[in-house]
Amino acid sequence: MTRTDPDSCPGVLRLHNAADGPLARIRVPGGQLAPQQLQALAEAARELADGSIELTSRGNVQLRRVRDASALEARLTAAGLLPSASHERIRNIIASPLAGRVGGAADVHGLVVALDAGLQADPLLAKLPGRVLFTLDDGRGDVSGLGGDIGVHAVDGDTYALLLAGADSGVRVSAGDAVGLMLAAAHGFLELRDGQWRLHEIPDAGPRLTDRLLTTRSGLDTSDESIEIGVRHEIPIGWMTQGDDRVALGAGVPLGSLPARTAEFIAAVERPILLTPWRSLVIADLDEWAAEQVVRVLAPMGLIFDAHSPWLLVSACAGMPGCAKSRTDVRADVAEAVESGRVVPAGAPQFAREGLEAAEIVASGRQHWSGCERRCGRPRGAVTDIIATGDGYRIDPAD
Ligand code: SF4
Repeated sequence: MTRTDPDSCPGVLRLHNAADGPLARIRVPGGQLAPQQLQALAEAARELADGSIELTSRGNVQLRRVRDASALEARLTAAGLLPSASHERIRNIIASPLAGRVGGAADVHGLVVALDAGLQADPLLAKLPGRVLFTLDDGRGDVSGLGGDIGVHAVDGDTYALLLAGADSGVRVSAGDAVGLMLAAAHGFLELRDGQWRLHEIPDAGPRLTDRLLTTRSGLDTSDESIEIGVRHEIPIGWMTQGDDRVALGAGVPLGSLPARTAEFIAAVERPILLTPWRSLVIADLDEWAAEQVVRVLAPMGLIFDAHSPWLLVSACAGMPGCAKSRTDVRADVAEAVESGRVVPAGAPQFAREGLEAAEIVASGRQHWSGCERRCGRPRGAVTDIIATGDGYRIDPAD
């Protein structure tokens, strides 16, 4: 597939003209946010945008209805959230949120920092399309299946498999060389591409890029034991005891929309925050007393600490009023479905239906609501689609 148009991914310096006003996307490599950065985002959301922070499926954030782009740029730069004007849109890096704290074979967060620095330091890599996604999986398999272009997946504490276009390339690399190899793969992508936005759009990109790396870089091994990459949907929710006996609290955020006031309460906890690609977050490094207080204060504000909450089954596109193509306000409709008990756990039979009013919809298991057939933001894997058509909603059950 060859594309003739440049990718149009928004950033802070290039806002997207959404139907409800300018939208800014702020990259958060590895989902790693310091408390003061979340505080800065909350203040920007309240004073310069619509009052909420949107979490994205790449662990980034968005602000809607931005009123003053220059003021936003200045604030985000001061908070360290816009470290590079030339490379801002290519810093799409997802990492296993719990790495180094709860389970996993390796701590990939240090690699995230090194990869981000390596990307920013390389002028040529500013040419990467804004859609390119890097993944760093600590071996538990939570992010390798999220459709990355270039990734590493921990095989053990010091060995990583190189993933290209979401599949195991067979190349094995030490932790010390992993970032260098990912950067070399990014250069290889630029050399192979002919307008494509994503690696998988280039014919035979994986094998071609693998051959190129094996012939140009020393110190690489290969393995015949291929790692099976699957799509997992295990959102870290609730109380998790870290390896150092402190506590990580996973919190769901209904439809990924975090009100500024709630974000300020999270920032006030003064602990590291990790945004996940499932539009949730993790507050890390808490002692038990603090963790109990966090749940006591933040659960009534709408954060979800119950892994069985129906909110964790649903996602939705922007819908009305944010998207001009939307036939209805899907987010209001899905919120009503959750709150009235019409989103039920997986297991109940789900039949194809069409011509439904929103209030008639009862759906089980993971489900994505869309304002039109494009189904923006649909998670990967087995998900029931609930799509607004010109004649009511249609339900397409998960395969
Ligand atoms: S799925 Fe359709 S309505 Fe929803 S955001 Fe995408 S284009 Fe807009």
